[in-house]
Amino acid sequence: MNTDRPHKHPRVRGSLRVTGWALWTIPRPARHFLILIDVLAVVVTIVAAYVLPVNDADLRMCALLIGLGVAAAEMTRRIERVRRLVSDTPHINLTSVWTLAGAVLIPTSLTALVVAVLYGHLWVRSYRRMLGMYPYRDIFNVCQVALCCHAVGWIVQRSRLHPLEEAEAATDLLWLVAAIGVYTALNSLLVAIAIALFQTDRSPVRLLGSLNENMLEWATLSLGAVAALLLSMHTWLVALLFPPMYALHRSLLIRQFEHAATTDPKTGLLNAASWHELTTKELERARRNNATLGLLMIDIDHFRRLNNKHGHLVGDRALRTIADTLRRTTRNYDLCGRFGGEEFVVLLPETDATEAWNVANRICDRIRHLEIQTDTPTANPERLSVSIGVAMFPQTGENLEDVLLAADKALYSAKDAGRDQVRTV
Ligand code: GH3
Ligand code: MG
Ligand code: MG
Repeated sequence: MNTDRPHKHPRVRGSLRVTGWALWTIPRPARHFLILIDVLAVVVTIVAAYVLPVNDADLRMCALLIGLGVAAAEMTRRIERVRRLVSDTPHINLTSVWTLAGAVLIPTSLTALVVAVLYGHLWVRSYRRMLGMYPYRDIFNVCQVALCCHAVGWIVQRSRLHPLEEAEAATDLLWLVAAIGVYTALNSLLVAIAIALFQTDRSPVRLLGSLNENMLEWATLSLGAVAALLLSMHTWLVALLFPPMYALHRSLLIRQFEHAATTDPKTGLLNAASWHELTTKELERARRNNATLGLLMIDIDHFRRLNNKHGHLVGDRALRTIADTLRRTTRNYDLCGRFGGEEFVVLLPETDATEAWNVANRICDRIRHLEIQTDTPTANPERLSVSIGVAMFPQTGENLEDVLLAADKALYSAKDAGRDQVRTV
């Protein structure tokens, strides 16, 4: 897993002068942490080079791993580029197949070389020209992955895995699972710390990646363990790993596209189109079952003032905080969407007018008590309120457009009545 997340802070042109590096523009704690990990990785690698002897077979295996890694990266280069553009969570690439295999098979000073060459190749071939990609992030990724490999190497030294063919199958499996566990845990920890120091959004998905991304990481590391076994026994059988790697990458890209197509990137709520589609289906269902449902139209009060006073980044933070509140205040099967700007919609299936009224008031109340942190350390947190219009199906209309219009009318009567309140028609 890697820290890369494109488009997250303003483009600073790459510079050859040390003072021109983008590294100096990131928050100071994050900078210190990145430099600490970089230095630690270099020191540990130098120590490993002195302590762990390297023979000709190790050098041959190192060259083979680099060759296989470059071949695999070339095979999935297009998919990798697009995935990196689409994904907004910590990023996982397939190099860990080869770096984990390296950590198991060869002295870790050589594994660090494999990591550096494979990431360097990815940088040159795939990421160099992408907006929002910074060398300091890739250098950090190389260093943190190298540290993970050193940790795995340390375990392998203590296990009977070395050399693999002498071990028994059951204990082999346990040691390999332990190696994968250590690699994953250390990798997730280092990446999560870097991201937490880097930005204010510290939700678990931002720090640790989605379940899908993590499953890909485990799948990749399992392939790495299989690659290590194959390489230590029947080297060329490792070619069999290429088709599953390709399929894995492609299927993840498709899922990422689906997610991106239905989700509002700023808040993680449904976007207008997918909310409309799902709501139309819910309405059909309610019609068939003679059920009622509630629709809430929510607009932030005087949002422009917050933007004008503290800037759009604080405004965006407020949008995310309110979206989180909507998610937490509603049930799993309610549909929360962002209609655009600072307007949200919530569909409440199987809900009568009293329940819808209560949910709307609960949302209004929770948002009134939210504190929005600003970027001015001395300033008090800002407070916001929302106005909410409630409309019911089928009472206010037979189709979605009529119910939406009714909710919008109710919303404007809430605004006219002084904001920070719920109205219905
Ligand atoms: P009212 O109480 O009447 O709703 O006042 P308001 O200021 O909220 O209303 P208005 O619709 O005039 O302003 C909406 C503002 O929302 C304008 C725009 O700057 C801001 N806005 C829209 N989309 C975004 C966004 O994605 N991020 C941020 N930060 N601001 C946004
Ligand atoms: Mg508005
Ligand atoms: Mg508004």
